[in-house]
Amino acid sequence: MAKLLRGFRDLFEEEAQKLTTVEKAARSVFKIYGAKELRLPTLELKEIFIKATGQTTDIVQKEMYAFEDGGGRLVAMRPEGTPGVARAYIENNFQENPLQKFFYIGNMFRAERPQAGRYREFEQIGLEYIGNASPAADAEVILMLKAIFDKLGVKNYKVKINSIGCKECRPKFREDLIKFFTAQKDSLCEKCQTRLEVNPLRVLDCKIDGPKFTQSAPKQILCPACQKHFDEVKKYLDGKVPFEVDPCLVRGLDYYTKTVFEFQADIAGAQNALAAGGRYDDLIASMGGPKVPAVGWALGAERVALASSFEEQKSKTIFVVSVEESANNYAFNILQTLREKGLSAQGGLFDKNLKAQMKQANKINASYAIIVGGNEVSKNTAVLKDLTSGEQKELSLNDLLANLEGK
Ligand SMILES: [Zn+2]
Ligand SMILES: [Zn+2]
Repeated sequence: MAKLLRGFRDLFEEEAQKLTTVEKAARSVFKIYGAKELRLPTLELKEIFIKATGQTTDIVQKEMYAFEDGGGRLVAMRPEGTPGVARAYIENNFQENPLQKFFYIGNMFRAERPQAGRYREFEQIGLEYIGNASPAADAEVILMLKAIFDKLGVKNYKVKINSIGCKECRPKFREDLIKFFTAQKDSLCEKCQTRLEVNPLRVLDCKIDGPKFTQSAPKQILCPACQKHFDEVKKYLDGKVPFEVDPCLVRGLDYYTKTVFEFQADIAGAQNALAAGGRYDDLIASMGGPKVPAVGWALGAERVALASSFEEQKSKTIFVVSVEESANNYAFNILQTLREKGLSAQGGLFDKNLKAQMKQANKINASYAIIVGGNEVSKNTAVLKDLTSGEQKELSLNDLLANLEGK
């Protein structure tokens, strides 16, 4: 009955806090770079994702939570953020102001086979820089990711970049790959045999087949414009972030053009993509919008949290105890005053005896207890007990507050 759906989970304080820390780091970087928040709906027309994410992708073919709503519309829970951003951009007529830098933070849904560290609902933080065709934009968004990772203390991450070309130079590469892989179709994994015709680039980043053909597979020959763009991206990044060019990095989405990139790090002994993105100069026009260039990325908040080195923050909670009914109101006023002063305070379990209240103070790892009874009420004082050292002293209320605010 009361059972969690497979592939989903509840996040309690400690894990929720980690995500909040990742979000805060990202927000501080977004502010510096002038990105504006865009909150998007969770549900969109399914068509949006088929068009944007791509008909041939794993996401659209088998991972979407899609269904018919009460009004007979085919809708889907968003599996990624970019299509929604593109839809919002088109619908809200940014022609007057085509240059936009948006960020989003939100839950995404993919019906993947549940496995360690992978959930069907997960959080993505994304950035979309729309309207700037310069390779400086590609470099800028990559450096934003670096800034977030550095802020979070992510260690030993690798930045891989590649260019997958454009409408001019990609078709030839596609054809070369189809020809090359068709000749050795039998040695491909089952998945690649079926996707060979529709998405041959994906064979290159297949975990099974990719490594086998890295050396021998035909290489992408970029057209002069794409080559120049890629060279400039590399020049802008030079000396600012260590990166390696990986010709097999192709990404699983259909809409990328030119630059693609991935930030990878070791999590529990395996290389994992923590964030990935690329340029998508044709996407917005292909969805019926203006012809406008764009580049962006998304990071997986849970995975980035796993790779981060957080400093443990000890909360200094004060626990207010009343030992007599005649002191309850006095104790409650102290509790409220502490909170109004911005101090973390708990208590108010005045229907319990002293021992039970102190037990709760220990349970939540409170640093101090403030204990009052009729005696303290009459003198306008309180007993402050340091729960680490066990020391206690009686103070006037003014001294008590001054004492706690300094801690
Ligand atoms: Zn090209
Ligand atoms: Zn394969």
